[in-house]
Amino acid sequence: MSLPSSMRAMVLSAAAKSLSLEYLPLPRPAAQQLLLRVRACGVCRTDLHIVDGDLKEPVLPLIPGHEIVGEVVQVGAAVQNFHIGQRVGVPWLGYTCGSCRFCRRGQENLCDQPGFTGYTLPGGFAEFTVADQRYSFLLPDGYDDLAAAPLLCAGLIGYRSYSKIDPYCEHLGIYGFGAAAHIIAQIAVHEGKKIYAFTRPGDTASQQFARRLGAVWAGDSDQPPPQPLDAAIIFAPVGSLLPAALRAVDKGGLVVCGGIHMSDIPSFPYHILWNERRVVSVANLTRQDGEELLRKAVAAGVKTEPIPYPLEKANEALNDLRGGRIQGAAVLTMTG
Ligand SMILES: [Zn+2]
Ligand SMILES: [Zn+2]
Repeated sequence: MSLPSSMRAMVLSAAAKSLSLEYLPLPRPAAQQLLLRVRACGVCRTDLHIVDGDLKEPVLPLIPGHEIVGEVVQVGAAVQNFHIGQRVGVPWLGYTCGSCRFCRRGQENLCDQPGFTGYTLPGGFAEFTVADQRYSFLLPDGYDDLAAAPLLCAGLIGYRSYSKIDPYCEHLGIYGFGAAAHIIAQIAVHEGKKIYAFTRPGDTASQQFARRLGAVWAGDSDQPPPQPLDAAIIFAPVGSLLPAALRAVDKGGLVVCGGIHMSDIPSFPYHILWNERRVVSVANLTRQDGEELLRKAVAAGVKTEPIPYPLEKANEALNDLRGGRIQGAAVLTMTG
């Protein structure tokens, strides 16, 4: 099969600018890399934080996108894990050093010298991309390209947040019912947990969406839940939700901050943290998180709700995400 010499890509040239459609030469795979024909790439809130300049260290000009579903079309000289024709997923964690003290103690998500897909490494808002074979996953057959894409970040970061929760947790609150929540809620329900979904006040569409996915209660984020929670995960990038979540959890309860960026947290009285309530943030992912999430998604029969946009409509997808107009997950498609 012959490959074209150039590809279409959506490129960020400076923070707080729209992406522009460009024709670029095809990347060449280094020894450990796969050349992928991108079939679909999810659009995540992190992409929005990069484009808007909330995350300060993108390598510009940048092709964003870190929920890549691609077909291997060429392999680097040292590639042994994959062969041409296979379908792989490429997540946010694109490289780790393997030797810093975090990597050595099994916390590669905190690596001192990481590479992040679509941020410090080229991403998937393009017809082709390269990815390191060691950080790529074989995707389960049960998911088509569009449906698989949201698992690769929304699913993964959601799963890492969910995995912080104590096994005895029965009543689980989720603040911000978007792409991550819609995947994790299905796994949590499958594992016997009761979900309480909190959305922007008045967002009845998202509340209905949450109930449809099995939430026992859905309401406004400024309301208390009908009963104290054992844990809460905050996916919305809104700092004022942290005190709200602390008020909603019971003694010993845990609040997990699942986002990469959050607005400032207002001060709050100590008594809402007292009684061994805990707060933890979640950063990035490990490869083990990826393997566990894909296994659990298949076991729970997780269905994602992708909303397709053609590649050149990436700015529109980002705007819809910014405006809270997406129930499910926006995914770019490369055909057409
Ligand atoms: Zn490291
Ligand atoms: Zn993401």
